[in-house]
Amino acid sequence: MNQPLTDLVLDAGIAATLCRDMPDSDLHSALESCCAQGVRLWLYAGEIANTLSRIEAAIKRTEATQIASALSARQRLDQQLPAFQWLAALSGDMECADDPEPLAAALVQAAKRLGDSARILTSVRSRLDRGMPFMDLESVPALTPQVRVDFIDLKAQQDRIRAALESGIHRVLHHGRYVMGDEIGTLESRLAQITEVEHCICVSSGTDALLMALLALEVGPGDEIITSPFSFFATAEVIALLGANPVYVDIDPATFNIDAAKIEVAVTGHTRGILPVNLYGQCAEMDEINAIGQRHSLPVIEDAAQSFGATYRGRASCALSDIACTSFFPAKPLGAYGDGGACFTSDAELAARLRQIRDHGQDRRYHHVRLGVNGRLDTLQATVLLAKLDVFDNEINRRQEAAQRYAEQLSSLEREGKLVLPIVQSHNTSSWAQYTVRVKGRDEVQRALASAGIPTAVHYPVTLYQQPALIQTEANCPEGDRAADEVLSLPMHPYLGDEAQARVSDVLADVLARPMLDST
Ligand SMILES: *Cc1c(COP(=O)(O)O)cnc(C)c1O
Repeated sequence: MNQPLTDLVLDAGIAATLCRDMPDSDLHSALESCCAQGVRLWLYAGEIANTLSRIEAAIKRTEATQIASALSARQRLDQQLPAFQWLAALSGDMECADDPEPLAAALVQAAKRLGDSARILTSVRSRLDRGMPFMDLESVPALTPQVRVDFIDLKAQQDRIRAALESGIHRVLHHGRYVMGDEIGTLESRLAQITEVEHCICVSSGTDALLMALLALEVGPGDEIITSPFSFFATAEVIALLGANPVYVDIDPATFNIDAAKIEVAVTGHTRGILPVNLYGQCAEMDEINAIGQRHSLPVIEDAAQSFGATYRGRASCALSDIACTSFFPAKPLGAYGDGGACFTSDAELAARLRQIRDHGQDRRYHHVRLGVNGRLDTLQATVLLAKLDVFDNEINRRQEAAQRYAEQLSSLEREGKLVLPIVQSHNTSSWAQYTVRVKGRDEVQRALASAGIPTAVHYPVTLYQQPALIQTEANCPEGDRAADEVLSLPMHPYLGDEAQARVSDVLADVLARPMLDST
């Protein structure tokens, strides 16, 4: 079967033709239709000199002034092809130096990195004779516009920050300090500054951040930690790993977060901490929770894995408790290209302990004052996160705009009682890690959406005390259980356009109108 075209590399000759032709040429319209379809256009950096000089020559031939410079070639390119990106030339591209046309071979190597469905557009006979992935203008498929909906979209983000990413990654490659390189400290300072917390300690994952927070607070066997039953497994897993017991307090059905009014009755002589989770990107009722912590001398640990970028009463998530833990898993609002996380605290003593725990309990080299873990963030992930921070505020705004659009598009379904939209309390702003609605007959709705090409997810299908590894038959959180039956997360990311959302909303309305679902 033919794979759909996703990426089109234009060789130097095509770029020159494009800069010479009138904007109504066949080439222009073919490329425009590709762009409208989401095909990404690339120029190969290995051909950069060739490309610019060919464009310069093409301009000279067509323009009377004859004063085209290299700069004007570059400007012309931006004008004619606003959506293109440079495809990096890597050292391996020149490994086929014995090829009679090494540049053509290098183009093939580079295009391969974009995946099997990438093609190279050329009008050079010898290149076309090599066959795929080279192709000529006539072979560009006539593409009919269709709206693609991704659950998350990390490609659009990558296109935006490619230059910073590539230079950061290559800098680390060359300086060689892959563990605890300078980028870690730079990232920690920036994260501390953004959240207005004294200390940020970057670690290997969100799960490890939670584990290390509990280790720093010396939680151990027989201790009880009060937490939410409606979260990702890791929240309770780390408690149980240390031999402590998760004590579940039911959620507030409006926000899906732990119901602060129900926490105090759960405090016992064994309670050693309170661990609220900021689900879907909205903070829990931290003032109430901190007040309970203070009354009972219990530390509060914020599971902020989903809420980096959110605010609570004007303060940043991660600045709201004794220790906050976030995750840089790729799908989180601030995601790396692998695992990562961070602990935040304004307590210098806790910060020092966390730094030791991250590094096998060392206070200096080969001197271990406590038991810790290998919980360091990679320098490479830190450099990825630094590049992503440059666009992060804008991405949070875009997520908020997308949530607003969903609210508008789906409000009539809510009025008809067909679904329940997420609520963000007036003192909160959400980082919109997920846009999660409640529907009856959720599994059936999800299947119907999937068959119409709308990806969704369920966060989370069962409460934590029903997980085999954490089973507590006596736990009883009816709101948590009801949420687990009803929640459905819709596509949500900063690059979700109006059209894609309208499609999600239309299909959802259509699915919810089907009578078979009424009986569930
Ligand atoms: C993702 C997540 C975690 C775990 O983070 P990782 O980086 O995947 O280890 C913990 N708690 C919640 C609420 C999460 O969403």
